[in-house]
Amino acid sequence: MAKHITIPKNFMTIFIVTFFMSNALAITLLPPNDIADRFHNDSETIKIASSDFGHIVQEIPAAVFYPNSIDDIASLVKYAYNNSVPINVAARGQAHSTWGQSLARDGVVVNMTSLENRLNGSGIIVSSDSSLGFYADVGGEQLWIDVLNTTLQYGLSPVSWVDYLYLTVGGTLSNAGISGQSFRFGPQISNVYELDVITGKGEFSTCSPKENSELYYAVLGGLGQFGIITRARVALEPAPKRVKWLRLFYSDFSAFTRDQESLISKNERRDNKALNYLEGMLLLNQGPQDLSFYPVSAYARINSLVTKYGIIYCLEAAKYYYDDRESRVEKELLDLLKGNLGFQPDFMFEKDVTYMEFLNRVRSSELFLRSKGQWEVPHPWLNLFVPESRILDFNSGVLKNIILKQKIPAGIVLIYPMNRNKWDDKMSVVIPDEDVFYVVSMLHSSGFNKWEAYDNQNKEILQFCDDAGIKVKPYLGHYETQEDWINHFGSKWESFRARKALFDPKMILSPGQRIFNNN
Ligand code: FAD
Repeated sequence: MAKHITIPKNFMTIFIVTFFMSNALAITLLPPNDIADRFHNDSETIKIASSDFGHIVQEIPAAVFYPNSIDDIASLVKYAYNNSVPINVAARGQAHSTWGQSLARDGVVVNMTSLENRLNGSGIIVSSDSSLGFYADVGGEQLWIDVLNTTLQYGLSPVSWVDYLYLTVGGTLSNAGISGQSFRFGPQISNVYELDVITGKGEFSTCSPKENSELYYAVLGGLGQFGIITRARVALEPAPKRVKWLRLFYSDFSAFTRDQESLISKNERRDNKALNYLEGMLLLNQGPQDLSFYPVSAYARINSLVTKYGIIYCLEAAKYYYDDRESRVEKELLDLLKGNLGFQPDFMFEKDVTYMEFLNRVRSSELFLRSKGQWEVPHPWLNLFVPESRILDFNSGVLKNIILKQKIPAGIVLIYPMNRNKWDDKMSVVIPDEDVFYVVSMLHSSGFNKWEAYDNQNKEILQFCDDAGIKVKPYLGHYETQEDWINHFGSKWESFRARKALFDPKMILSPGQRIFNNN
């Protein structure tokens, strides 16, 4: 990342005019003096801001903005809004998007993480009151790992997570923020009491279900289209100490989904006997297997099971516990699992880890891949929400007939169900219209000149679903045309469009989503 440098203001003025003009934007207004030195356009900074974790899309911005405060962001957006040719502005969290969603061609990318140290490190403040209980006020730029580390110091923790914690609060709340806790606690957007937002007019607004509610519901799952989140008030609960973590193998998909659905049917927030987490994944007889969860002594029989069936479905479940409840949690787990679960006998694996080890489980894979130079590579990901009524068709048509048959080395493939009643339909995010739906995440990595093969496979999968009438909804998705987005939002499109007109009438925010400014 480029270092901040202090440059005299008159130099900055000339520099700003030059770089915006050189990017063919008509400048009628210079940025206010107090933010003039926050713009950077050295080649290294521009290069980093032109790409994202996907390493597929490239869009070159005119400048990157390094705010020191929330006021800086408000000034920037006002300036972009008032310019005679409005300037596009994209908040950039960690740019862990995969299809250019945090990029801004010819516009300004806001490096949100430069807010990290604002107000002397007060980006995460833990409090409580009689109506909400415990909560944390968290800057939109904060990483979830930092939220966890801070709240744990108070013996507290958010309840709904993402699998990987080095994502920003503003970035995941703009999508939904899902993981194995969502079946019980809802996605992260269902666990936010209040937000501070800078709208597309540069206006600062605090919003909640009671105050400025239209903005609150628009922004959550709103793909960055309505405002820049600068603070979220996140629900907290007492933090567990340890986690019983299980993996059960299935060769039969119907038994796998039947058991997953039965386990998520016990989902009351306050039901201490319910699971805390449920996901699932595929072990495929193609591409490298990550067996690090399992004892080395089991590798041979796991490999031969996968070879025998070609595809094994792994149900992953976790139950949290507090200080001295290990024996009780063992019994509660056994109670949940006993009976009719249809996993392969002898293929149940268990770990007992700290809460932090469990939540931060993806970090070790990241560090391993980084050490092999396999992290900063193309990621042609496809994430879909699939209606429960068609999940068996999805298995035969997609998992078996496309992914398994084509034998392209597959990345991680996750598959697990969620309960619709844990989501709030007033929010912008779109999910299938069934009580239970599945998340299917095909998280491929590829060489720099090989991602098209995965992209073609992804297109084939979408085409198959379309032809078979399986009404999937992409999550973290991208589309080529506005018509596709209109289809995506379905009955929610009119309110999405109306909210855009209200909060970002000049359509300057998050242009990389290519919803309103698809050129
Ligand atoms: P960015 O990619 O920087 O931004 C995403 C979008 O949000 C952009 O349009 C951007 O303009 C906008 N934006 C960013 N910050 C703000 C803000 N403060 N206010 C308003 N808009 C903003 N997602 C899940 O739900 N569950 C997972 O388990 C999960 N695991 C992941 C694991 C990995 C390894 C990776 C790379 C991604 C994963 N994701 C997961 C996807 C992730 O949630 C999204 O890619 C998210 O956008 C990443 O956050 P970010 O901070 O990098 O956002």
